[in-house]
Amino acid sequence: MIKAKHLKKVYKTGELDLEVIKDFSLDISKGEFISLIGPSGSGKSTVLNMLGCLDTPTEGSLNINGEEITSLDKTKLANFRGLHIGFIFQSFNLIPVLSVYENIEYPLIMIQNLPEEQRKERVLNLLNEVGMLDQKDKFPEQISGGQKQRVAIARALVTNPAIVFADEPTANLDSKTANSVIELMQKIQKEHNTTFVFATHDEKIVSKVNRLISIVDGNITEDRKVLRGTSNE
Ligand code: ADP
Ligand code: MG
Repeated sequence: MIKAKHLKKVYKTGELDLEVIKDFSLDISKGEFISLIGPSGSGKSTVLNMLGCLDTPTEGSLNINGEEITSLDKTKLANFRGLHIGFIFQSFNLIPVLSVYENIEYPLIMIQNLPEEQRKERVLNLLNEVGMLDQKDKFPEQISGGQKQRVAIARALVTNPAIVFADEPTANLDSKTANSVIELMQKIQKEHNTTFVFATHDEKIVSKVNRLISIVDGNITEDRKVLRGTSNE
């Protein structure tokens, strides 16, 4: 479902061109639970942002769900992202003036022209799924970090995206909260076969994914399938 071929990313910073990603190729199949790992500054976020259509590669080809992303203009790219991709950020990025309910509903209003009744059903289902139904009328400043990330997960999933990207989703959480957030994503991946792509060095995530992609100095240095027992995990 994702085919990235020879992606390159060069940031132009004044006089200097910074070649952050040199040659990145990767195929990701539906339902994978996969993480990019690598030291800080190695380019994990840069790759995630390109795969997640938040940023465009300088060179290379990126095909998602049969669509060649690199040939879309800005508006089409934003539409494509809204229809197919969910994003979860380290710092949650909830909208402070919207309630929990409204934060989750927001992508449906912005992107997908769903009638009100259907919107409501989807939002309530997801609130229930992430265990936040009883908090739906609160505002982001009134809930904990772990609860914020649950809301962000619901917001990322509300459009029924094919792929969810999560950039260091547990970095601002204590380890117990982090574990429960990871378990939630794992449950969603198993029940809905949603593809999750992480960028993280959190061992708690790394120990749960099915595949690890190591990035060092802008190149993939290792692509490792991790086989895990399916019982009792
Ligand atoms: P990671 O997520 O692995 O920590 P990043 O993808 O954020 O790495 O960054 C990789 C490199 O690219 C770093 O050296 C960083 O300073 C640089 N970089 C990231 N974003 C930009 C940008 N918008 N402009 C210039 N340089 C950037
Ligand atoms: Mg990063």
